[in-house]
Amino acid sequence: MRLTRYFLPVLKETPSEAQIVSHRLMLRAGMIKQAAAGIYSWLPLGFKVLRKLEDIVHEEQQRAGHIPMLMPTLQSADLWRESGRYDDYGEEMLRIKDRHGRDMLYGPTNEELITDIFRSHVGSYKDLPLTLYHVQWKFRDEIRPRFGVMRGREFFMKDGYNFDLTKEAALHAYNRHLVSYLRTYERMGLQAIPMRADGGPIGGDYTHEFLVLAETGESEVFYDSAVTDLSFGDRQIDYDDHAQCAAVLEEFTSKYARTDETHDEALFNEVPEERRRSARGIEVGQIFYFGTKYSEAMGATVQGPDGQVVPVHMGSHGIGVSRLLGAIIEASHDERGIIWPEGVTPFHVGIVNLKQGDAEADAACEALYASLTALGLEPLYDDRDERAGGKFATMDLVGLPWRITVGPRGLKNGVVELTSRRSGESEELPPEEAVQRLV
Ligand code: ATP
Ligand code: MG
Ligand code: MG
Ligand code: MG
Repeated sequence: MRLTRYFLPVLKETPSEAQIVSHRLMLRAGMIKQAAAGIYSWLPLGFKVLRKLEDIVHEEQQRAGHIPMLMPTLQSADLWRESGRYDDYGEEMLRIKDRHGRDMLYGPTNEELITDIFRSHVGSYKDLPLTLYHVQWKFRDEIRPRFGVMRGREFFMKDGYNFDLTKEAALHAYNRHLVSYLRTYERMGLQAIPMRADGGPIGGDYTHEFLVLAETGESEVFYDSAVTDLSFGDRQIDYDDHAQCAAVLEEFTSKYARTDETHDEALFNEVPEERRRSARGIEVGQIFYFGTKYSEAMGATVQGPDGQVVPVHMGSHGIGVSRLLGAIIEASHDERGIIWPEGVTPFHVGIVNLKQGDAEADAACEALYASLTALGLEPLYDDRDERAGGKFATMDLVGLPWRITVGPRGLKNGVVELTSRRSGESEELPPEEAVQRLV
């Protein structure tokens, strides 16, 4: 992409309404624009990152054997009356009437809708296990929308639902989700720690939240510092192997790590004192096993191998895709701007032309642009007729992991400059070599 043909409305001033760094940087880097309280337009750069996160979520869900689909944002109130949640959900549910006076709502989550789909089409244990998911906009009329996309009212969420014949099978689905979530967050360059949490309005005894440690997080968390040494890495996992998934769950959840809702001072005090930590965290996902709560209320049953008709065991599993943008930026920035992890960066590399209009510099930039593109990388070429200082400031703000700086002086010696956004280290080398470094 050439900057002169892109839409990147960078702000010079720091917007006064933004209280935390990720919100400030997303506004300044022209990623989002507020449309109403807690509702945002995703400008091209923000949209690009959102799509990358969504792609990672899809890949990891499908790797785990979960099946993508799409449910609507608007739902009929009838199903929610069946489950009993139409009244229970309270003020966070945005309720709408259509022209016929029928009660509708903008879905805050989808347990009812998916259970209805399931009961309409599945009747035998032979169709189990089944996990369906979608990535779709949700609406919750949060009492205090704030921090930009971190606590929006409209937000983008992956939610998945497993249907199993037995509790044991459903707990395997739970473990499988935990493993796939660990992989997902690591690919996004994040450490998200599974912590024992509280069931809340979705209900259930088995639930973990995934938290990214950050001072601006809204959750209070308590943990054994040894949990921060764990990483999933590139280990191979067979998602059908119950023992293997259970072992990962055991490894990642056996040390003390809880949110304030389930915090237990006595248990926490058993952690060696030097490893006891209390901190703040951002909830970027949550998994639940809730048994037959919805299947019983809504009649989602199957015939088992013995001919008996039984309600299915279910769980639901969510990832806050739009919130993750904020969480990644909270975890990865400096005073000059965002520093994207390689896995989610909107463009792979920025090209800065120090002397736009200089025949040699222009030609060298074009050649770099062409060879990077041919290798499947996406460069963002700052081809504006602007001072070098302004170009550097924009690149630093936007936070691409690499920058190639091209100027007449370097070109005389046959070199360009390759700079790492994270370390700030620069190296002069011939253009072809700079390209090779990036593949
Ligand atoms: P919170 O405690 O932050 O209100 P939640 O527990 O109500 O979140 P869940 O029902 O567990 O949310 O939804 C799954 C995920 O969706 C959350 O882990 C979070 O990452 C994301 N999410 C929830 N509410 C919002 C919101 N208002 N804005 C952005 N993301 C959200
Ligand atoms: Mg909430
Ligand atoms: Mg929560
Ligand atoms: Mg939650």
